[in-house]
Amino acid sequence: MKKPNTFYITTPIFYPNAELHMGNVYPVTLCDILARYHRAKGDTTYFLTGSDEHSTKVVKMAEKAGKSTEEFLEGTVGSFKTLFGALDISYDQFIRTSDREVHWPGAVLMWNKLVEAGDIYKKSYSGLYCVGCEAFVTEKDLIKGKCHYHDTVPELLEEENYFFRLSKYTEKVKDKITSGELMVMPDSRKAEILALLDRGLEDVSFSRPASKNPWAIPVPNDPTQTMYVWCDALVNYISAIGYGRDDAMFETYWPADFHVIGKDILRFHAAFWPAMLMSAGIPLPKTILVHGMILSGGRKMSKTLGNVIDPQILITEYGKDALRYFIARHLSTFEDSEITPESYKDAYNANLANGVGNLVSRVMKMVVSYDISYEIVKGENKLIKEYSAHLDRFEINKAIDIIFTKIGELDAFIQTSQPFKTIKTDIKKAQTDIVYLAQELHAVGEALAPFMPETSASIMSLVVSKKTPEKPLFERKA
Ligand SMILES: [Zn+2]
Repeated sequence: MKKPNTFYITTPIFYPNAELHMGNVYPVTLCDILARYHRAKGDTTYFLTGSDEHSTKVVKMAEKAGKSTEEFLEGTVGSFKTLFGALDISYDQFIRTSDREVHWPGAVLMWNKLVEAGDIYKKSYSGLYCVGCEAFVTEKDLIKGKCHYHDTVPELLEEENYFFRLSKYTEKVKDKITSGELMVMPDSRKAEILALLDRGLEDVSFSRPASKNPWAIPVPNDPTQTMYVWCDALVNYISAIGYGRDDAMFETYWPADFHVIGKDILRFHAAFWPAMLMSAGIPLPKTILVHGMILSGGRKMSKTLGNVIDPQILITEYGKDALRYFIARHLSTFEDSEITPESYKDAYNANLANGVGNLVSRVMKMVVSYDISYEIVKGENKLIKEYSAHLDRFEINKAIDIIFTKIGELDAFIQTSQPFKTIKTDIKKAQTDIVYLAQELHAVGEALAPFMPETSASIMSLVVSKKTPEKPLFERKA
């Protein structure tokens, strides 16, 4: 049994066939904020991210690049890790589904459990297959005969497949979601998945001929077939924490507190995955959290539209904490939201350069110039106490707002109390006011830790050591 005060959070696993974009960096940052918050609270925390590597697309891309698949993946996964490092993402594990020691035993065990439950059967299947989705698609997934995600015409494919009896679980999954035993947030996504379940689920292909998909995990006891996506990719959430190889670790962390996903993979996580888990006799995750999409200029970012915003460029130009700040505060957690180079710069200048950065410079300048002495009192941090309730409900925007409201109040306090003037007329009052500011600034620094870890550490260190920053924490951008 999982103990209370244990927290397990996962990001989707990413396809290593392209550079990561804002849409990937976004859920990873949200998860990192939550993981840092829970660790600071003293919870036994595990934060998982990773890559989904058994796609035929990866094999094709490697060929195109003149590399072996392994070599190609090393490069791409390496660049993912570099980017996550540049953003201070504190994952505990980066799982790779091609990892035969860590991942494969769990996938094989899950397959065998599904077989034992009588939920896997073989049949000849012919259907429309979208290479982009790596999935058989049905007529209702198409718009004018084209995949609605990829805008390509799917190909007709006939082959032997193992199928999973997903249809058998329609009502059971629906009950779990309706009863709240499996939470789907926000409500709009819960309604969407319930409507899908109302229409019924069809059995789903779980394998492909090994000849067509040789790079994937072999189906146990049938070398002619390899696993196709679901029993491979989705199982990462349990294989990573020991399913199939380390029972003690699995018992410690499962069930997951949050699976954070995008809406394009909702049905896989809120229908396929719970059905598989029920078939295998494994408890369900607690919450599936569906984040909004990031748009630029009202459109989904795409290379063709030329509105792609590269997270690496934002980090280089503005720093990692600025990107973490923007994601936490200016992208709505659940709704679609907008980022443009202009909106990013405006938010940066208004809230980081002129906001927290300026406050730190002003307060510390007074501390140093007037040689103010104090001891920082370590106690309950009211800001953290106040934002906890929000973070527990995944209300990241509201949580960080509390800190920035405080920053505004401290600015206003300087304006009204004017310690830089009263220092000449009422030194006692000026000293008291500046000590108050330093103490509050330290609290702001501490509260910022899950959101902006580097800034948090800088602020606390400056206040404790009574120093002015050598350069502004956030240089104003013209
Ligand atoms: Zn597609």
